[in-house]
Amino acid sequence: MATFDGVIVGAGHNGLTLGAYLARAGMKVCVLDAAPRIGGGCSTEDATLPGFRCNLHSNFYIAFSSSPLMRDLELHRHGFAYIEPPVQNGVAMRDGTALTIHKDIEKTCASIGRFSRRDAESFRYLSETYAVKMRPFFTSLLYNPPLAPDELRSRLPGPEGRELLAHAPLDLFQAVDRHFEDQRIRTLFKLLMHVTTGENVPGTGLIFPMILASITHLALPAGGSASLSHALARVIEAGGGTVRAGAPVREIVVEANRATGVRLADGTRIDATQFVASGIDAPRTMQLAGAQHFPEPVREKLNAWHWGDHSLVKIHLALNAPPDYAAAKFDPDINRAFNIFFGFDDTEQVVRCFEQCRNNEFPDWPMGNGACNSLFDPTYAPQGKHAAFWWPFAPYALPGGPEEWDRRKPEVTARLLEVWRGYAPNLTPENVLASFLFTPIDIERGNAAMQRGAVRLGAYVPSQLGINRPHPQLADNRTPIDGLYLCGSSCHGGGANGGPGYNAANAITTDLKVARPWTPVAAPEWSG
Ligand SMILES: Cc1cc2nc3c(=O)[nH]c(=O)nc-3n(C[C@H](O)[C@H](O)[C@H](O)COP(=O)(O)OP(=O)(O)OC[C@H]3O[C@@H](n4cnc5c(N)ncnc54)[C@H](O)[C@@H]3O)c2cc1C
Repeated sequence: MATFDGVIVGAGHNGLTLGAYLARAGMKVCVLDAAPRIGGGCSTEDATLPGFRCNLHSNFYIAFSSSPLMRDLELHRHGFAYIEPPVQNGVAMRDGTALTIHKDIEKTCASIGRFSRRDAESFRYLSETYAVKMRPFFTSLLYNPPLAPDELRSRLPGPEGRELLAHAPLDLFQAVDRHFEDQRIRTLFKLLMHVTTGENVPGTGLIFPMILASITHLALPAGGSASLSHALARVIEAGGGTVRAGAPVREIVVEANRATGVRLADGTRIDATQFVASGIDAPRTMQLAGAQHFPEPVREKLNAWHWGDHSLVKIHLALNAPPDYAAAKFDPDINRAFNIFFGFDDTEQVVRCFEQCRNNEFPDWPMGNGACNSLFDPTYAPQGKHAAFWWPFAPYALPGGPEEWDRRKPEVTARLLEVWRGYAPNLTPENVLASFLFTPIDIERGNAAMQRGAVRLGAYVPSQLGINRPHPQLADNRTPIDGLYLCGSSCHGGGANGGPGYNAANAITTDLKVARPWTPVAAPEWSG
């Protein structure tokens, strides 16, 4: 029977982040993953043709440059690097116009100003306030335990803080409309809000300034999304720890209300002398450890966990030439945009798309974002070739059930290609060497933590955000079971940033009184 200081369930990037921090603190950890490869939603595969790298899940590492991980874990020494392309976001419209958001604020304002001068000035103000001045505040929010609403209010006593908090009661669309007047600009930001699994319900309005704060800090992981997972695994192994794929955990062993190890599907037991942590979703963690150990309100909530009303369907292409958008005649920078959006004309279509996703119907107007990564990192494709993808929003199931996705793959591929070609006419059969469709049921099959194709391991609705994620009694990464911690994306944080893993590392080192070789991110506070 193997024994470690700590055992971590799930080698997604959060389980690995926790393992890497604790390895740096001198602990011997074992990280186990059910899948045949590590990384969870930070994965890269040659899914179309050999040499064409596809990030099947996360592609846009949001605000990674502000994350403490690079510095604390010296990830550059373990093979991880990222690129922040100068044209960060672009929207190609059906009418041939385009909008581009650059790292250079003047260029962004010039682009927005072609639609509305007032909106350009609003963007400048929002960018200066949230993306520049208050950036450190948003970083500290992510890399600290969540705050109860009253506590958050007391940490934001000044006028900027009050203005930020004024977004809190709004829904996503109201938050956008508050700042922009042009219908196309409004529509873009409304769609953008859904990208993080945000739902348009009252109480989600704070997502808007938070996304605004990061909108020009999107990074492409060099060589593939999996390079982050592999770099983290190297940190763990350098500290004497173990990372194992193909090792599904079927039970978290609890003795006298203390987590003492795990049992794998094949019956093997692995002991943990100090802690067990779970990098999978909170509902399944509760089942693995035994629901009887959790108080009734926690059980009730986790049993009714809201996985989200929409997922994504991804089409990956192996190409001779990168997509050439018709809207490049209007704004040539659209062809150099990293995160590119298309498929919608107005808010009504956006509303209809999410209504249809909720009702398990394929959207009339497929819409969403994508990228051609090989434009920024040539290692994503063989020399002279290109790798691109587009991931429109999609329901978890089609009429007839989630397995209908398998049957309708050729039809859905043809439809998505047709829509994409409507914007980028050079996506002809001669240009497209191969395609690969990755559907919501594929997401779920490949990763048991992403039930119902849940991109962020649970919807972003007020009852599952901040202190409520996953439940106020579990919000600081601790559980009612001694020595059992949560470190996955159904905790506060989420997305490819390692927030939940980082916060769990701070909780565990605090509880075990282990010296930290890193300086924790300062507590969130903003007096402006
Ligand atoms: C299509 C898609 C696109 C996305 N795009 C982005 C993006 O561009 N930017 C972004 O920030 N985020 C994106 N995300 C979200 C991002 O992938 C997740 O937020 C991130 O992967 C969560 O990391 P995690 O470590 O918490 O969990 P996961 O990555 O889900 O890892 C959990 C791991 O646990 C393993 N596991 C499950 N059950 C068990 C068990 N019983 N025993 C052992 N192991 C188990 C799984 O195999 C998995 O490897 C996207 C997600 C999807 C699906």
